[in-house]
Amino acid sequence: MPIQILQKAFAKAPFAKSKPPKRDFRIGIPRVLNQWSTHRFWTTLFVELGINRRSIVYSSDTSEVQQLKFGKGRGAVDCCYPVKCMSGHYGELLNGQKRPIDILFVPIILTVPSFLRGHVRENMACPRVIAGPESTRAGFRREKDVFKEMGVHYLSPAVSLADPQIATRQLYDALKGVITDLRMTELRAAVATAYDALQEFDQSLRRQSLAVLSECATQNRPCILALGRPYHMDTGIGHAIESELQAFGYPILWGQYLPLDAEILDWLYGDLIKAGRIQSPFDISDIWKTSHSANTNELLWAARYGSIMPWITCSIRFSSYECGMDQPTYSPVQEITEALGTLFFVFQDLDETKPAGSVRIRVETIAYYLEQKSPNIIQSKLEALKTAPPELLLPT
Ligand code: SF4
Repeated sequence: MPIQILQKAFAKAPFAKSKPPKRDFRIGIPRVLNQWSTHRFWTTLFVELGINRRSIVYSSDTSEVQQLKFGKGRGAVDCCYPVKCMSGHYGELLNGQKRPIDILFVPIILTVPSFLRGHVRENMACPRVIAGPESTRAGFRREKDVFKEMGVHYLSPAVSLADPQIATRQLYDALKGVITDLRMTELRAAVATAYDALQEFDQSLRRQSLAVLSECATQNRPCILALGRPYHMDTGIGHAIESELQAFGYPILWGQYLPLDAEILDWLYGDLIKAGRIQSPFDISDIWKTSHSANTNELLWAARYGSIMPWITCSIRFSSYECGMDQPTYSPVQEITEALGTLFFVFQDLDETKPAGSVRIRVETIAYYLEQKSPNIIQSKLEALKTAPPELLLPT
């Protein structure tokens, strides 16, 4: 998958044939947290509700400049780094626009759509993700209500996005306050189109990952799996470390967008299913019992995928400063990854500091190990799978 693909996706119109604009709002949406995996839903929803695509504005990637210029003195206390950064995004949308916004839209995403739904206990967002919008908002109302003063409507509905029926009702209750002529039938249709757009977007990224894997399989060369939260794709949160590795010639796959084609999953998980260890390729109950968090579930699932897939010879783990959710996953993810010899490296406690020199040394070390070890890793993982790769990966 080409690196930083999501940055470009934020700017794209969701659908070629979107409806002509009929409602004249300017909406700002902070490019934070689970927006990284769900933004296509929100853009499509508002376009379908008749808002001009150009009037839907996302803040930029997180950066030190953004934080200093727009978020200074408004930070939430006692939070992990990605939540702390939210104030810079709020500030940029409130104070950094040529044309001011009318609405600051920050959905409190309670549950996250996931391909593991039905195979895990729950699809919850992290509690700090849920609390993030309110704690950040508080920073802008400390001395005076900045939203009120600027005439910006702060709209932050709680949305169970993994459950379309509940989400539709929650969105209706929230949006009818600003779109006074909104009817349920109109919203229902817009929500359905938005879910389709999100699904199509995810599938297009999976197709790109498949093309990368297939190229690696055909040329018998390695690639790297990035294991992190969706917002580690933000260059200010994940520091684009994967780009530096890609510059050494190793393609990057993100765990959230691995190919899910049946032939590949049967090949990878057939033995585990036959042995009765798992019920299906999406079953993680043997490696992660407390499967309540959608992003954590996908992380564990991707770790196993990477540990079995022969051409993924290295997994890189990203984790942010003060992340409570990641703590219990460190050992299982490492054990799973290394079980069949896949290389494992960690960039932990990422915050606003990017120690360029030490990152460079570590990246060079990883590239060295990849060059030295990859041929044997590919060979031994192919042997462990016993059957030949599916044609989808390795056309004959
Ligand atoms: S998963 Fe970790 S980094 Fe992300 S919001 Fe939760 S505590 Fe913060």
